[in-house]
Amino acid sequence: MEDKHQKYSLAAKKAWETIRKKKIEQSRKENADIKGFLNFNMKYVVQKEYEIKSPLIKKSKLASKDKGGIGKDLSEGWAINFAVGCTHACIFCYADSLHKRVYGKKYNLSGIPWGFYLLIPKNIDEAIEKTNWSKWKGKEVLMSSTHDPYLPQLYPIPRKILEAALPEGVRFCIQTRSPLVLKDLDLLEEYKDQIRLQVSISTYYPEFAHLIEPRVAPPKARFEIIKRAKERGIDTGVIVAPIFPPNPARKDISKDLDLIMKTLAKIKPDHIYGEMLHARGANLVMIETLLNTRFKKEELLEMDGEIEYLFYEKLAKYGLSGGYWPEHRYLKKSI
Ligand code: SF4
Repeated sequence: MEDKHQKYSLAAKKAWETIRKKKIEQSRKENADIKGFLNFNMKYVVQKEYEIKSPLIKKSKLASKDKGGIGKDLSEGWAINFAVGCTHACIFCYADSLHKRVYGKKYNLSGIPWGFYLLIPKNIDEAIEKTNWSKWKGKEVLMSSTHDPYLPQLYPIPRKILEAALPEGVRFCIQTRSPLVLKDLDLLEEYKDQIRLQVSISTYYPEFAHLIEPRVAPPKARFEIIKRAKERGIDTGVIVAPIFPPNPARKDISKDLDLIMKTLAKIKPDHIYGEMLHARGANLVMIETLLNTRFKKEELLEMDGEIEYLFYEKLAKYGLSGGYWPEHRYLKKSI
């Protein structure tokens, strides 16, 4: 019986490996000219409309384990996504395969590199109206998990959603890299008991940030979002992620984390989290193409522990507290 079981699980593993290899190959073709693409401006983004389903709030795994999630503190098990694709085009992002799996065929997305397609909901007003927001009264919902909610092409959708949901008691963890959120500070301040505003910062260095997040505002502008929100009494957070291993474009992680924590010590956000670069879908293909380097999945896992240690060391150095989301729990070792 055990042999049979073992045989099936080996066959499943082999099949999965074949699918994975095919996906990587496909992504390699799509992103072969990524350097060229990233130099091009937004007019090369394929923008279309799509039909969004209601209710707008869906289950999410990006929550703590006691809320049924994978151990991240980003919501109480709920998320709201209202676009397909993300024009920020971060090279480490792994949402591409997710979007293409669900919408690729219907909207002809296959072959379009990450960051170069965006589907915008044509029926958003109707979907907002059809969502029974009070069902999620008191629950924290992540906005958003598969795209930046404050992409310029999406505004004012996030505001419309907040205006409908906040009076009904829904709480939000707004996760963005876009200073456009500052436009809604008045609303966020009015409902500050229901809001947590978080930004992600991967590196302190603007040149490296521009390479890995080509269309995102520089790190300084993201620190500024948190500073201004804090001044208005809004609950704030920073996710220091993804922390890249040493590479030709940014060699010293320790110095980088030091500069980030030093800045955070002045701003004092209410939450700080850390996470290293994860190999998901085919994101490593893009990273390797752009940084002209190789990261092996096993090496990344091994480094996770070292980066976790460094993260806590830097937090302590600047009198901060926070939590690291490990990819792989490890036995603490000195580095
Ligand atoms: S902002 Fe978020 S969703 Fe958009 S490309 Fe970057 S990592 Fe992906």
